[in-house]
Amino acid sequence: MRRTLSVEVHPDGAVHVRAPLRMSEARIEAFVRDRMDWIVTKLSRSSVIRSVVPPLELRQFHHRGRVMSWGTDSAVRRPTIRLNQSDGIPQLLLPATLPPERVELAVRRWQRSEAENVFGVMINETMPILGLASMKFRELRLRRMTRRWGSCSTGGVITLNERLIEVPDDCIRAVVVHEMCHLVHMNHGQAFHRLVRDVMPDHQSADTLLDRWSVVLSEERNTRRRPSTAVASELRRIAVERRYAEVLAQISSNADVSDAAIISGVRPSM
Ligand SMILES: [Zn+2]
Repeated sequence: MRRTLSVEVHPDGAVHVRAPLRMSEARIEAFVRDRMDWIVTKLSRSSVIRSVVPPLELRQFHHRGRVMSWGTDSAVRRPTIRLNQSDGIPQLLLPATLPPERVELAVRRWQRSEAENVFGVMINETMPILGLASMKFRELRLRRMTRRWGSCSTGGVITLNERLIEVPDDCIRAVVVHEMCHLVHMNHGQAFHRLVRDVMPDHQSADTLLDRWSVVLSEERNTRRRPSTAVASELRRIAVERRYAEVLAQISSNADVSDAAIISGVRPSM
């Protein structure tokens, strides 16, 4: 009989918790909560996420779900896009006079202006679908946020995370549609979700994709911060799926966890 608690993160992104059958849920939850950072780190490296989110090399960044690189060129005066002939990756060329320590800021500024355009276009595209309610829309604001992708105020101000420009367009659209539907319903009730589905029938898959992207983004730049909302929602999903006895029954052999990262050996009396 099993006497210890363990949590496993599998290469496919699945998280399994093993526990003695009679252990209380509260105790198991506390165990999982204490290891949240570890789980998040392992999840962010899982192969599913890696297969979705292209990894970055030096001088590269994510833009609208793709990899871009940056470089300097003495011939350009303002940020310019050119296709790099050698690797086929679009390159953001910055003026060669730019001091190295200003490069990151320049890339960030360029992405912010792209974000303003792309988000603005998507809002305009959504307005006719929403109809009259879209008249409540007042203003788009961009912010760098660590915990959320967007928000909508009762006054019709939609705030979007400028880092949303790093993820694929479908994911951006899902957030835009979500926030704009709050112009109609200021809650997450059934009517709200129905409306989101009407406006964007495939929003569910875009949301799932966004979760995967969020995990990596939070790892790359916010290593010292708490998990993003997307990571939190991923963990909520895990929590919902945690019917421990069933989970335990599923994992019968050790063979299928050989690749998995495992924390174990903690006595239930802890
Ligand atoms: Zn919402």
